[in-house]
Amino acid sequence: MNPASFFSPDYATARAKFRAAAKAAGAEVVTYPHPLQGPDGGDLSTDVVRIGPADAHRYVVCNTSTHGVEGFCGSGPLIGVLSEQIYRELPPNVALLLIHAINPHGFAWLRRVNEDNVDLNRNFLDFSQPLPVNAEYAPIHQYLVPRNFEGEELAQADAELAKARERLGARGFQTAVSGGQYAFPDGLFYGGNKPTWSNQTLRRLLPELIGDATHVMFLDFHTGLGPYGYCEPINGHAPGTKAFDRLYEWIGDCVTSAQTGTSSSTRLSGTIGLGVMEALPNAIHTKTTLEYGTRPNDYVRLALRSDCWLHNHGDLKSARAKEIKALIRDAFYRDYDDWKELVYVRARQIIRKGIAGLSAQSDQKD
Ligand SMILES: [Zn+2]
Repeated sequence: MNPASFFSPDYATARAKFRAAAKAAGAEVVTYPHPLQGPDGGDLSTDVVRIGPADAHRYVVCNTSTHGVEGFCGSGPLIGVLSEQIYRELPPNVALLLIHAINPHGFAWLRRVNEDNVDLNRNFLDFSQPLPVNAEYAPIHQYLVPRNFEGEELAQADAELAKARERLGARGFQTAVSGGQYAFPDGLFYGGNKPTWSNQTLRRLLPELIGDATHVMFLDFHTGLGPYGYCEPINGHAPGTKAFDRLYEWIGDCVTSAQTGTSSSTRLSGTIGLGVMEALPNAIHTKTTLEYGTRPNDYVRLALRSDCWLHNHGDLKSARAKEIKALIRDAFYRDYDDWKELVYVRARQIIRKGIAGLSAQSDQKD
């Protein structure tokens, strides 16, 4: 089968394809309806499939669309795994949990954030505690999303950002912008001030569907960092832990770590993997982000700034809105067959490595 056929041009098609593939595989789809609608008035939901031996308690959990529009990428491998019947290869002790669009609103509306402008991968924090402070974000906020996103004002804002980058260095600038912030609800990489719908849904569906899990490998599909089509597995654990080492054993030397500085990603707060661990406290966890490259960082950042401006100040029905939506879709999803093939083939390899690693893992707690 041509891997490109597993991918979809929009959220509604992806959702229908995933459901059809699950049905063809004889698997039940559990649907968690989202309270809002898509731009076309269509329903939104997180759709989940557990597939594999009924008495398996070890799970490869594939999660997609944490960052909404990045779901174009993640949806493809889920549909591919079902269509190619990869689940037939499962050993008796491992099953798959496929989460289609944990942030369906962002996917449908072509946004990286959710319905509250929240970055879901910064939202898994204990909100009763003081929130992380990103002091370097505040001075550049007004330049990242200026009120007028064109002409002289945009040129001035870009000049100020260039100065900040000079002052902080490329890495420091990336951390300031994308590390996560909790002070500007209309800004970029905003982590929210309470658990979002997607956060609550994840915490609900995991115990409901795989509350019996003893071992979990969590694969979270992302796009927007790195070279075209390249998949960077980013270690979700701290150096020095057993889980950190396990990822290298299972996947290989291509695994990187934001904490050791080998990753294209900067260190983040409140990531979704923490939510998975909290939702399944009795399981032994191994978690990684799969980060697929699309476009250069500057291109992606411009798309995010434009989209944030559009939803803060612009007209969603305008011609400019159309341009911006095309830009953000292109920044996070390369709509070419070779890119889709790279995404799918690598995902399938890593899922297979995860299944093998998980199957052979000892029962010893970390
Ligand atoms: Zn992402």
